[in-house]
Amino acid sequence: MTRVYFLLGGNIGNREELLSEAIRKMTNQLGKYIQSSSLYETEPWGFTHEQNFLNQVVIFDSELAALDILDKTQAIEKELGRVRKTTQYCERTIDIDILFYGDEQIENERLSVPHPRIQERSFALYPLKELIPEFIHPILKKSIKQLRNECTDELEINKFN
Ligand code: AMP
Repeated sequence: MTRVYFLLGGNIGNREELLSEAIRKMTNQLGKYIQSSSLYETEPWGFTHEQNFLNQVVIFDSELAALDILDKTQAIEKELGRVRKTTQYCERTIDIDILFYGDEQIENERLSVPHPRIQERSFALYPLKELIPEFIHPILKKSIKQLRNECTDELEINKFN
């Protein structure tokens, strides 16, 4: 059994509903749901779009291997990511990233875990800090709290309710 930490995010469609639908599907497929953070609203990173992102960290305990988890979360992204607009499919609505897989380090063609950009992104660090401030990043050997304090990402981020 491994404790797995995910970052969910989306900025298209009914964002809250899509996040809860993703968590529902993940609960059916991945293992035991443990906890989720508040929702955080952030400006799009690196580009502009009319709707801000909602981000949330979710924790599961899973018996699955990391690549099997990736298969399942990518299938869920596909299922949820296709909004019918007349007869055509349009953009992806939900992104599911694996932030940590226990304290394992995984590096292969399809997967980098811990996710390589956690320390650069407030929208990952704020919700992580809410849930696991003392968790030690297995490569950087610093706590989430410490990484959050050192992060220079100045993107506006607010709790969403
Ligand atoms: P994105 O478009 O940002 O959702 O990136 C998806 C791609 O990132 C996929 O091809 C994954 O195989 C790859 N990837 C690498 N590391 C991770 C990770 N920790 N979590 C999710 N996807 C990952």
